[in-house]
Amino acid sequence: MAKANEKDINQPKATEGKEPATATKSAAAEQQSMDSTGPLEDFFMDALKDIYWAEKALTEALPKMQAAATTEELQEAFEDHTLLTQKHVSRLEKVFKLLGKPAEAKKCDAMQGLIKEGEKIIESTPEGSMTRDAALIIAAQKVEHYEIASYGGLVQIALTLGHSDVADILDKTLQEEEDTDMNLTEIAENSINFAAQEETAEDIEDIM
Ligand code: FE
Ligand code: FE
Repeated sequence: MAKANEKDINQPKATEGKEPATATKSAAAEQQSMDSTGPLEDFFMDALKDIYWAEKALTEALPKMQAAATTEELQEAFEDHTLLTQKHVSRLEKVFKLLGKPAEAKKCDAMQGLIKEGEKIIESTPEGSMTRDAALIIAAQKVEHYEIASYGGLVQIALTLGHSDVADILDKTLQEEEDTDMNLTEIAENSINFAAQEETAEDIEDIM
């Protein structure tokens, strides 16, 4: 190995020796598929761009959900998670830097759909109602579950590719998404669903 800088790791070492004989070609191809520049690394970079787009979109969507929430408890949860989400964006930028790649976002259709669903909930539930909070919690948990699935997979792939420093960073975010999901469940269990039920009972009384 010559005095290679870190960037050289990403270049295939194809110039060793002369033209490979036909018999050794498959072995060479096999070796190349084991290199970190193979399809798994490509997929990993794509998935990072996807979650980077998603996190950036959430820094704009969460404040809207905060403004629409009924209870102070849920408003605070959204406010806290907006701050964490900004941290997630910076962490991903650190990950791109560690990998020697520019931070690039690629539109995530799934997250765009989940955010749209949240917007529809705001439009279709009465302002100041507990029903709105119950529905917003479900929307927010769908977002967290998408993130948990994404980061969970990314941590495993980072480890497979030998990027343990990157895996550690992504795992921090994964833990925070899991904590957020649990916190939302607690809010729903402790107050919202119960109150939403009461609200429905009142509505039924009003109708009768
Ligand atoms: Fe996040
Ligand atoms: Fe999150």
